[in-house]
Amino acid sequence: MAGAPGRSIIIAVGDEVLGGFVLDSNSNWLAQRLREAGYAAERIEVVADRDDAIVAAIRRALAETAVTRILVSGGVGPTPDDRTLAAVARALDRPLEENAEALAHVQGIVRRMHAAGWVPSDEISAANRRMTVVPRGAVVLTNRRGMAPGLAYDLDQGGTRWLLVLPGIPREMTTIFAEEALPRLFSGGAVEHVAEARYGYAIEAEFVGPMTVLGNEYPDVAVGSYPQTETRELVIRLWGGNAAQVEAAFRRLLELRPLAER
Ligand code: ATP
Ligand code: MG
Repeated sequence: MAGAPGRSIIIAVGDEVLGGFVLDSNSNWLAQRLREAGYAAERIEVVADRDDAIVAAIRRALAETAVTRILVSGGVGPTPDDRTLAAVARALDRPLEENAEALAHVQGIVRRMHAAGWVPSDEISAANRRMTVVPRGAVVLTNRRGMAPGLAYDLDQGGTRWLLVLPGIPREMTTIFAEEALPRLFSGGAVEHVAEARYGYAIEAEFVGPMTVLGNEYPDVAVGSYPQTETRELVIRLWGGNAAQVEAAFRRLLELRPLAER
């Protein structure tokens, strides 16, 4: 789309998602926020907790020049199965080094835990220290709900293309994204306009004609058909970058297929 600042790719890291133990709610949540911010997702990928798999997914995303936000979530914790930071370092060709801001954050939490009597020492453990050793050049996104930092990397040194690394724990991921990433790194997006028509008990095949007409008359408006088995409604959803076009296409749909028609 002309003038669009770009799109996003979401990479969820986790064997637990691939094994079907956990539903990838992180990517779903991010996809909604990204669409609302005007950086709609181009692709969502789930990869294993394996260095080569994470590196390959990041490199695939980096190769797509229209993609200006790459979000990687999961695998930044203290345990040996958390390999995302090392993989990001390799994919971006940046060394891993201790980050003073991330270290101060972890130290602060450990001191408070020690003062509260929850841990015997105010020294940070080797496991927790792992979360403070991150690829060089990070903008740290403060994690108000946990130890692992959120990280952002300015890929072109011009502030137009960013790679973000977020924890997998949903409440940490959503808080960092909403509080830190969204206000700082997602302004100026090309917001998409959405219109929906809901038809009760409609037969999907009957919408082939109207959808084909809309596709021909409004090539810049995307049209999708989404049957809802629970409510027995058929949702026809239209969306695009130009509000007037989406609205005109929506009026045309209602001409071709009025809402009350059974
Ligand atoms: P930790 O500090 O716990 O190691 P982390 O950033 O390394 O955090 P993971 O180890 O990948 O994250 O996952 C932590 C928790 O978050 C797990 O309970 C996991 O099931 C959940 N989780 C991870 N990825 C997702 C996801 N894509 N959607 C929903 N939940 C997830
Ligand atoms: Mg983990």
